[in-house]
Amino acid sequence: MTDKARVALLEQANEPLRIRELPIPEVKEGCVLVKTLASGVCGTDVHCWRGQVKLPLPVILGHESVGTIEKLGAGRTQDSMGEPIAEGDRVFWVAGHPCNKCYGCVILKDTTACSNRKSYGTSYSCADYPYLVGGYSEYVFLTGRSFLFKIPEQVPAEAAIAFGCGFPTAVKGFEVIGGVGPGKSVLIQGAGPVGLSCVVLAKLGGAHPITVMGAPHPRLEMARRLGADRTIDIAGLDRPEDRVKKARDEAGEADLCIEATGYPTAVAEGVELVRPNGRYLLMGVFSDLGPAPINPSVVVRRNLKLYGSVFWEPRHLHEVLRLLALCNDRLKLEDAVSARYALEDATQALHDVEALKCVKAVIAPHAH
Ligand SMILES: [Zn+2]
Ligand SMILES: [Zn+2]
Repeated sequence: MTDKARVALLEQANEPLRIRELPIPEVKEGCVLVKTLASGVCGTDVHCWRGQVKLPLPVILGHESVGTIEKLGAGRTQDSMGEPIAEGDRVFWVAGHPCNKCYGCVILKDTTACSNRKSYGTSYSCADYPYLVGGYSEYVFLTGRSFLFKIPEQVPAEAAIAFGCGFPTAVKGFEVIGGVGPGKSVLIQGAGPVGLSCVVLAKLGGAHPITVMGAPHPRLEMARRLGADRTIDIAGLDRPEDRVKKARDEAGEADLCIEATGYPTAVAEGVELVRPNGRYLLMGVFSDLGPAPINPSVVVRRNLKLYGSVFWEPRHLHEVLRLLALCNDRLKLEDAVSARYALEDATQALHDVEALKCVKAVIAPHAH
């Protein structure tokens, strides 16, 4: 086995990622070395690359990855659910690390509220041990604090990674709002991985009708395949009032509206599309792109309930894997992976994701 791993490194915002070789540390007690099968290119990666997220450069991007276990350190014999694991097993590892000693972690017992949260792929510099701390790399080195789950045998690796961190994000968001009931109308703004995951969850909850507003066409087609009853293509609708009018005309107001766009300005449109006493769940605007005005009077006069939800806990990823084991025969999420890139082409992948060219793009460091 090699003692070095090739990585695509973010050294400077807006510059092409650089291919470098980093040392693979000794796999000590409790640690796991994972050979990367596929690492999702998340919208957040684009924001990181564009300098919109503060990072301890140099950083290896990639916070949603699946791989095979290359080497297990002594004492690491089970995944985070107690399933036995062995070298060669496929796993989905959890990028986030809570501090376990803040108000969120200890008192709220909700690690998504951790005030010192760190994550592979964003908040660790690869200049420090254990170096291989992001998914745009041939290998990832997990220390004892990392959670990981075995991917169920019947689930293709690309189905597991298809919506990346978006799927557990959506599962946690639905948990925050207590789910959606049968026959409730849902409007989802955004047809990226978070929005598409919400389609799956809304459908499983019996919601109807489910409407997705977004672009481009292939993403909306995927939304339909996953159970959306109606899609609204916003390409060419450049003015917010035009988008709101089209959504109202075609879908009416929704019992539940979900923001899954990443664009602050979508929120002003979203509040206009919720039925009185309805709910609005905001999950997409993770990166801080600044404020955007909304009309608070609409929120008051319609008794709206606004919810925010960020991150997810290991159990939400476990729920995703369990759900895929049950339903992926039908969902075939692997079809959402529409573009695969070598490490050398990681910069192109970021460009393509920024331009919404893919349903889902992944970096596959070992594919040729
Ligand atoms: Zn992500
Ligand atoms: Zn904490």
